[in-house]
Amino acid sequence: MSDFSTEFSGNLRRAGVVGAGGAGFPSYVKAQGRAEYALVNAAECEPLLKKDQKILEYFPEKVFDGLELLMRATLASRGLVGIKKKHEKLIWRLEEIAKGRRNVSVLKLGDYYPAGDEQCLVLEATGRVVPPGGIPLDVGCVVSNVETLYNASFAPKPVTETFITVNGAVKNPATFRVPVGVTWAEAAELCGGFTVKAPVYIDGGPMMGKVMTDFDVPVVKASAGIIVLPRGHPLIVKKAQSRPIFSRIGRSVCDQCSFCTEFCPRYLLGHNVQPHRVMRSLLFSGGPEHKLHSQYALLCCECSLCSLYSCPEGLNPREVCVSAKADLRELKTGFKNSALNDGKQPQPHPVRDFRKVPVSKLVKRLGLADYNRDAPWSDAVYKPLRVRIMMSQHIGVPCVPSVKEGQRVEKGAVAGDVPSGKLGCPVHASITGTVGKVNDKYVEIIA
Ligand code: SF4
Ligand code: SF4
Repeated sequence: MSDFSTEFSGNLRRAGVVGAGGAGFPSYVKAQGRAEYALVNAAECEPLLKKDQKILEYFPEKVFDGLELLMRATLASRGLVGIKKKHEKLIWRLEEIAKGRRNVSVLKLGDYYPAGDEQCLVLEATGRVVPPGGIPLDVGCVVSNVETLYNASFAPKPVTETFITVNGAVKNPATFRVPVGVTWAEAAELCGGFTVKAPVYIDGGPMMGKVMTDFDVPVVKASAGIIVLPRGHPLIVKKAQSRPIFSRIGRSVCDQCSFCTEFCPRYLLGHNVQPHRVMRSLLFSGGPEHKLHSQYALLCCECSLCSLYSCPEGLNPREVCVSAKADLRELKTGFKNSALNDGKQPQPHPVRDFRKVPVSKLVKRLGLADYNRDAPWSDAVYKPLRVRIMMSQHIGVPCVPSVKEGQRVEKGAVAGDVPSGKLGCPVHASITGTVGKVNDKYVEIIA
């Protein structure tokens, strides 16, 4: 590593910068790699979420600053901001800024789902396919989310706030910043409250997000936003199906039409993901046949397209894939040691471009047309009375609290850190106050 890489990755770690698109991967690790391309993932293809667009609209220079730092650290000779071409006005502005930066340009993407899948983005940007079971760095790319680079531009200043969109069944959908550790109930209240009785929400977007019923859950650094919906909305009902239910229905209804596979974005990249074959695993309660069919799920990125768009029978192949992968983990089978690992470099499917799913069609299929509104930027400053700083806000080892009950802390102080040598980074107090409860899950701070 160059001196600059060492310094920059150290700053990212100290600042607690993690992938802010939902994954929470510690960014300092990416800054230690060597790449040709540094890609900004600004596709934001989860319907109804707007935070990346708004960050680029209101703070574009900071995102470009973060990109340049990442390029310098990884020795990337090209920087590309991948954004959907429908954002014409914003693209015009980004292109103006890019003119003043070295080797940085804007990559215009179609309005399809999942344009923001990092492996799809790599293909669009470079024509390269990430090898099965690999990562973008294997083909010379480092991919970062918009907010991640915004945060990186301030490192080592600690990450104490996060950008979120609250959309769906709230009075005034909005995109704004909140201190890390406020609750989703507070965030929804800032949007004028709910417009439906019995609201629930999807944390992280309608496609890949998780259905949640408890609004008292704290916002974390990797939070992107929530979609509030009535409890009986068909999308909620489908996403909340339990394993016995989707297995029983799938076993009896799947006619092996293979639409789920034909539209699967990873299959279209050339990876051997075949959800229709995974559906066959439902016919076996275990044993070699179950294992054989389950392996076709190993490269699934859990994008949900098969369950929420492709399957004409309304089945849930995505959840079957998720369960199949969990079963294989128990058997210590990953892609590398699976029967499907033939070592061949995949080629994109010849009709891939014609099978991209337009987001407008997807929104209708999801039953979200009535909720598909803008979530305008609000710069109102919210001062909470209490925050809970979660110890696990990233991929890796959870933090261990580094403060004690009754202790006074300043905003930005380290509230928890991971043991030395382990994957992860610290979490920080997002407000000044007195430490209330401390346990292995969170540190509470009272203003
Ligand atoms: S699309 Fe649906 S019915 Fe067709 S193979 Fe896939 S899961 Fe079965
Ligand atoms: S969720 Fe379905 S469509 Fe998406 S990658 Fe997995 S198998 Fe393919």
